[in-house]
Amino acid sequence: MKKGFTILYPEFEGLYINLTNRCPCACTFCIRNSERAEFDNVDTLWLEREPTAQEVIAALKEESKKPEFADYKEIVFCGYGEPTERLDVLLEVAAFIKKELKKPTRLNTNGLGDLVNQKSIAPLLAGKLDVVSISLNSSDPDIYEKTVRPKFGKKSHAALIKFASDCTKFVPRVVLSTVATTISAEDEKKCTEICHKIGAEHRIREFEIIEKS
Ligand code: SF4
Repeated sequence: MKKGFTILYPEFEGLYINLTNRCPCACTFCIRNSERAEFDNVDTLWLEREPTAQEVIAALKEESKKPEFADYKEIVFCGYGEPTERLDVLLEVAAFIKKELKKPTRLNTNGLGDLVNQKSIAPLLAGKLDVVSISLNSSDPDIYEKTVRPKFGKKSHAALIKFASDCTKFVPRVVLSTVATTISAEDEKKCTEICHKIGAEHRIREFEIIEKS
């Protein structure tokens, strides 16, 4: 596949950051497996190599000089991989954004950052992220595992929910998402109940919107 060095890319009303192509999952719906064009505004999100924190910060500084930078409503850690695979870089860049660029920050994640980093990472996100958006996919651990195919196996779903619950203590807004029509109405209802129980929002995305992290 074609590779490049796209660190930043505009998407929706935000500026998105592409830290890595690593991911512990192999979701059946992952856009990385599809033949369709990746995104409207970028050549490729496959990386020749991972950018350092300093390279991401330098790219953000350059971007902040452009007139359109004022229009970005948020800066989003997303990209063609799981951002928490690069937790140290994520934290350093997020701290820079909050301190120097004064923009809202969001992390789009599969929610398995605790398993990736072998520790509870939610406390580290305090003051650095305004929103954590997590792909819940299903309330049922078996359906989740079959859909997301995480390398951590059966413990993944429970780890995701614990991470989401922990995040509600350290991050202002925590959103768990499912995709409309891909799960039963009963499953969807149970997802809403899980979200309410832990103090998170449940976002049901339209089927057409393809998962990107
Ligand atoms: S959809 Fe996201 S979590 Fe799933 S395999 Fe692709 S990058 Fe990983």
